[in-house]
Amino acid sequence: MVTKRATFKGGIHPAYNKHYTESLNIEDMAPVKQVVIPMAMHIGAPCSPVVNKGDKVKMGQLIGKAGGFVSANIHSSVSGVVAAVEKRLTSDGQMTMCVVIDNDFEDTPCDEIKSHDIERLTKEDIKEIIASAGLVGLGGATFPTHVKLAPPEGTKIDHVILNGAECEPYLTSDDALMKEYPEKVIGGLKIIMKLLDQQKGYIGIESNKPAAIAAIEKLADETIEVYTLDTKYPQGSEKHLITAITGREVPSGALPSAVGCVVSNTATAASVYDAVMNGKPVYERIVTVTGSGIKTPKVLKVRIGTMISEIIEFCGGLTDDAKKVILGGPMMGFAQYTTDVPATKGTSGILCLNAKDAAIQEPSNCIKCAKCVGACPMHLMPMYIAAYSQKLDYDKAAEYNALDCIECGSCAYVCPAKRPLVSAIRVAKREITAKRKKEQEAKK
Ligand code: SF4
Ligand code: SF4
Repeated sequence: MVTKRATFKGGIHPAYNKHYTESLNIEDMAPVKQVVIPMAMHIGAPCSPVVNKGDKVKMGQLIGKAGGFVSANIHSSVSGVVAAVEKRLTSDGQMTMCVVIDNDFEDTPCDEIKSHDIERLTKEDIKEIIASAGLVGLGGATFPTHVKLAPPEGTKIDHVILNGAECEPYLTSDDALMKEYPEKVIGGLKIIMKLLDQQKGYIGIESNKPAAIAAIEKLADETIEVYTLDTKYPQGSEKHLITAITGREVPSGALPSAVGCVVSNTATAASVYDAVMNGKPVYERIVTVTGSGIKTPKVLKVRIGTMISEIIEFCGGLTDDAKKVILGGPMMGFAQYTTDVPATKGTSGILCLNAKDAAIQEPSNCIKCAKCVGACPMHLMPMYIAAYSQKLDYDKAAEYNALDCIECGSCAYVCPAKRPLVSAIRVAKREITAKRKKEQEAKK
């Protein structure tokens, strides 16, 4: 095991505010009476429900079948009876098909949850287990893991990297996982290495997590290199992590495999371990409940489908002056207008802010200071992309490489005029992608 120091050029230093939860252990949230499990909580095609109202289900049982190759199976997080299969409001603001299950509080596991002998498993077996278990990127991206671990034919992979940066302010879920379950993180990495024929694996962790670095270093053997990354946002962005560790730049529009890399989040690696060693699908995850607007911040292990309102109640409720609830972190998370939506595989955090911390300054005119340009880790010109987006000139926004934006929020954070840069750029990306899709369909 070798520990090295690494980072990337640029980036910002927002207030990290990890103090709310960084010293807390992971706590199991008490089971709830009913879970609402969305059939779309990953990138790719939604799942088709394979249970009906009135069916009895076991914990870990398949309830939603992947709707294509880029999709991920969905499993019950409790044992009980299906109360409904119907559309419910989800955190993306959409009405999404959900399987609603009344919990019998027995936690009767399904037959598939059983330990495997890793030595007897072939690579094909491991791929099949990962796909069946519905694993997705648990850092928030929710990209199906079996797809990520199957790089395009002919691609030469020489770096398998685990992302333990957790650079989003406030969030400490990955930190807690690395401290409490380092054997799962390293075990998952070794399974991925086996799958991709790698003799060496790499883990990058930001320097503000010394206990996590120590826990991982203690278990890392000569096949694992641990990198202490500078504490800088967005160090956990896949592309910037690759640059920090390998010095390679992922070209515009390309995937990490284009530069020989596969990157997974540390929580995803732990879920690979759970699935391959113990036959456990993804039906729970670690969630940081934090901020000035929650009475008792916690790091919780939560069953998928638990309502956000119930998680908040479990943490003592919102403070009297709470003003905003964001799912995820303050830089890349999404503000919610209601907490009556379920936690999904992608719910890394519930950030509750009081009125003071949630206050948004009124935007003023751009003063052409170029601070947003200096802060952009993708070397874009955010002010132009946002301005063209606001003028509905999406072709021009595309010329300024709007699609390369990783929506990290660094530009908006440094902007003295408080321009709504990210929301404008998101609109441009959506419109450009829709137009290109339409053009491709017309060609067909
Ligand atoms: S333009 Fe996109 S990538 Fe660049 S700083 Fe803004 S949000 Fe981040
Ligand atoms: S940081 Fe804000 S004010 Fe300065 S150039 Fe960018 S958009 Fe304009």
